[in-house]
Amino acid sequence: MAAFEDSAFDDHERVVFCHDTQTGLTAIIAIHSTVLGPAAGGTRLWAYESDDAALHDVLRLSNAMSYKNAMAGLKFGGGKAVILKTPDFDGTEALYEKYGEFVDQLNGDYVTAEDVGMSVEIMETIARKTQYVSGLPRKEGQAGGDPSPKTSYGIFKGIEAAVAFQLDRDSVADLTVAIQGVGNVGYHLCRFLSEAGANLLVADIDQARVKRACDEFGATAVEQDEIVSCQSDILAPCALGATINARSVPELKATIVAGGANNQLETKEDGQRLSDAGILYAPDYVINGGGIINVASEYYGDADDDEVMRRVADIGPRLTGIFETARHSGKPTNVVADEMSRELIESAAQ
Ligand code: NAD
Repeated sequence: MAAFEDSAFDDHERVVFCHDTQTGLTAIIAIHSTVLGPAAGGTRLWAYESDDAALHDVLRLSNAMSYKNAMAGLKFGGGKAVILKTPDFDGTEALYEKYGEFVDQLNGDYVTAEDVGMSVEIMETIARKTQYVSGLPRKEGQAGGDPSPKTSYGIFKGIEAAVAFQLDRDSVADLTVAIQGVGNVGYHLCRFLSEAGANLLVADIDQARVKRACDEFGATAVEQDEIVSCQSDILAPCALGATINARSVPELKATIVAGGANNQLETKEDGQRLSDAGILYAPDYVINGGGIINVASEYYGDADDDEVMRRVADIGPRLTGIFETARHSGKPTNVVADEMSRELIESAAQ
């Protein structure tokens, strides 16, 4: 593994390789930046094709967390961790406790929470060994718990902002939203959208999840390989990354791409492709910041649930600002967001 040469390395402050033979834990913790505060970002549990793929993923995600946290105005730098689901991985409590010990050794430079493959219960196990963890069950009157509903609420507010900007409409009522992936984030997004009167098209590799969205929200099921190109007003990628790429952009019928998945663009150039095609893109790490806003409010204990919802709702006007800057500058929205985040971090470093 060549961490320094990895294209996603981008001046990471620290990368920690964690291994424990007794529990079989293999993990990588990446700290991209602590300029704005402790490096915060979830832990992802995933079966990677190779150790290099795991390293590349954690560096990429950690880097994005710096930008996401800066854009959300949080006192958090950027970090992320991956636990490798190796063939003999057994996910015991001892393994997660060991992971908690590794997190603790960083003395608060890294704060963890849930990401794909994690749960509130696992966070509680990790918290037996370290205080540097968030996404724990909510205490009476305080923010906390599963961040997914807050993430989805932020995406919903972001979609409303995109609809106002691109379609000059003040509501999603009667618009059609195609949602790729109806797991934690996609499911709650369906709820907000259906309450607002949108028509829903959904796809997932897990048919039980598709059925749940159809039964509870009157969504229509679409084949997995048709969801991206189906007739819709808004495409909301809520599964894994790289949905938007050189192959998919010419197929899109939607004029707005706004969803929860991290790393929706396969490459940065795909932002330009969307812009050239007249499609408005809500940069992923801006629109999906609701969960980390919830995590930060829990970690710092400075907000109750209503205040968190207000902070998450700010994602709408934040995106409108990015859309307007993009229109005036002629730059794609992803480039505008990257420039704004870098500026926030650089000015704090001075
Ligand atoms: P999840 O695992 O609960 O849901 C993802 C869903 O996508 C699953 O149901 C899975 O079966 C489905 N899926 C995977 N590949 C698919 C494909 N090719 N086509 C259709 N469906 C597919 O995860 P989640 O917590 O809902 O997160 C979804 C995305 O949002 C991830 O990219 C995650 O990094 C990002 N995100 C999540 C949060 C959060 O608060 N959970 C916050 C920010 C970003």
